[in-house]
Amino acid sequence: MKKVIKNTDKPVQIYRTISQIAFVLLCIWIGVEFHLFVKYLETGGVSGSPSRPPGVEGFLPISALMSVYYFLISGEIHSVHPSGFFILLAVIGVSLVFGKSFCSWICPVGFLSESLGDFGDKIWLRLFKRRLKIPRFLDYPLRSLKYLLLAFFVYAIFFTMTELALKVFLDSDYNKVADIKMYYFFAEISRFSLIVISVLFVLSIFIRNFWCRYLCPYGALLGILNFVSPTRIKREPLSCIDCGLCTKACPSFIKVDKVKTVISDECSSCMSCVDACPVKDTLFMSTVIRKKKINKITVALGIIMLFISITGIGMISGNWHNSISTPQYLHHIDNVKNLGHPTGVREIKELNEKSEERNLNEGKKISGK
Ligand code: SF4
Ligand code: SF4
Repeated sequence: MKKVIKNTDKPVQIYRTISQIAFVLLCIWIGVEFHLFVKYLETGGVSGSPSRPPGVEGFLPISALMSVYYFLISGEIHSVHPSGFFILLAVIGVSLVFGKSFCSWICPVGFLSESLGDFGDKIWLRLFKRRLKIPRFLDYPLRSLKYLLLAFFVYAIFFTMTELALKVFLDSDYNKVADIKMYYFFAEISRFSLIVISVLFVLSIFIRNFWCRYLCPYGALLGILNFVSPTRIKREPLSCIDCGLCTKACPSFIKVDKVKTVISDECSSCMSCVDACPVKDTLFMSTVIRKKKINKITVALGIIMLFISITGIGMISGNWHNSISTPQYLHHIDNVKNLGHPTGVREIKELNEKSEERNLNEGKKISGK
């Protein structure tokens, strides 16, 4: 019989909840500030507030992905949504080091999804004495949906847009007011969008993490980073007593008690399994190469500090506030609802052609002078 040494490490779930709530409050604050900013523009500066919160750009992931690509090919940080660029770098940076941890420690949608899942679990456990789990034959194809969405965005941006077209898009009036358009999407939500959001909401109660697990392209990107991240959850089979508490605690339905190392695109480094393990030094996060155990508090602080540090670099380097002036916003506000964006690969190809044409014409004008 194995000698069991009790796990006396303090759980870190409380820190995770504090982090999630703090970021939710931050997003609410950004939402209120942005609402006042839009009111300021709508009333021509009569009421509301003239200060625009740059953090709103965290909700423009496609524009941020384009800015990252633009940076990679031009070496420049585009000035229209620079904080979106740094927030995306922070999300990627945190997930590169600590796996898909952004989803379970920082993302407000992840927090909402988790809370709905917890609520659903309670109902399900009371009624059927177990959590609802989608059967594998459905789970795998559904999980691939988010990768298809990600593949579409990556193909459309990285493989069909020329550098010139990318710059034309990033400089466009549409991109400049993409945050205001997003505001109107929610402030004047259509019946169809409301139905879709309500369906996702209800599904998330009964199917844990429905949006995150099956549809979120952000989650897909971070899930891929899980495979290159230098940290993993490890189980020590010699001291493991096969109690199965880790598997029971895992919100991603990973069979932690059956593996030595968790290698999964669905592991969000939430540390719930590590907290649940009753045996000392049996389940922990460790580095892949040196196989060194990482203290739970170090994981918690590492995730939060890394995210704050990368966004902080954006702030102190002067790349946080965008280059659009208040008079420019006031000029655009009446036309915001008429501005559209390219929605498919064909439109992007047309954008490429128009950009080339425009460039050629400008070149001719200069040489004609
Ligand atoms: S394996 Fe552990 S850390 Fe990963 S998602 Fe499951 S409970 Fe969280
Ligand atoms: S919680 Fe998991 S790793 Fe820990 S003893 Fe039980 S089965 Fe083993």
